[in-house]
Amino acid sequence: MEIFFLEPVFVETIWGGSKLRDVFGYNIPSDTTGECWAISAHENGECRVAGGIYDGSLLSSLWKEKPDLFGNYPGDKFPLMVKIIDARKDLSIQVHPDDNYAKIHENGSLGKTECWYILDCKPESEIIIGHHAKNREELELMIQNHKWEELIRRVPIKKGDFFQIEPGCIHAIKEGTLILETQQNSDITYRLYDYDRLYNKKPRQLHIKESIANITVPFKEEQTDQKTEKLPGAVHTHLVSCKFYSVDKYDIDGLFIKEFEKYFTNVSVISGKGSINGISLEAGQHFIIPAKSGECRFEGNMSLICSNPE
Ligand code: ZN
Repeated sequence: MEIFFLEPVFVETIWGGSKLRDVFGYNIPSDTTGECWAISAHENGECRVAGGIYDGSLLSSLWKEKPDLFGNYPGDKFPLMVKIIDARKDLSIQVHPDDNYAKIHENGSLGKTECWYILDCKPESEIIIGHHAKNREELELMIQNHKWEELIRRVPIKKGDFFQIEPGCIHAIKEGTLILETQQNSDITYRLYDYDRLYNKKPRQLHIKESIANITVPFKEEQTDQKTEKLPGAVHTHLVSCKFYSVDKYDIDGLFIKEFEKYFTNVSVISGKGSINGISLEAGQHFIIPAKSGECRFEGNMSLICSNPE
């Protein structure tokens, strides 16, 4: 079966910047473009196929009409989503629901488990993951009394770091951070704190009740037990496996041959250039390798982030 490329959808945000153009050469709508929905079948931003026999098709239509491309993976929705996020300013501090909560409270939506690969950040950057409240009473008191500095857990980051964010985990990226996010196909976010910022003289809406209902207490750090192996033509790093996806990175140098898993594989070229089965590739391209594609022949000097549904 033929691999197919996707046309990203761009989302303007008050905290976005211009790195999606500066780093990847995308034709973004403005200098405040925060998100590139690179592989998405979500109704709020759907990718179309670019070129090939499925040119112009929505990913969601292919999912319904050509299930064999996806190895007949069960479910009525394409399960995953891949984004690149450029934070020129700090993002608000958020938490996501799990599938059970979202199904009941968000009209049957999926919950949101996500993970972040840090593509770039400023020196001595940090990220917000988790909190310091010992129990739910303390959590509620700290939120009611605006003890944000005591509550919020900050972690230093550098380029190449990777984080798994489970539902219920407080999280936010800070200014100057560029990430590749792999997530469940969901757009449900509860905003806990926005640094008391005003936009057009107004604060953005918070979701305190929903946040408190979903935050896991106490915070427990996710261990992603990354493993790196050297293969002919590539260094492979397994980043995470959870019940929704597994994510891997391949740093290819030369010729690398790989047969992928039984369903389908999302691929993002995060740096460098090369080819797959003779089709040229460069940083910023995103494509799907259908089920039963057999051996794929990669050549060049490039880094890929791949994800598979579990
Ligand atoms: Zn999130």
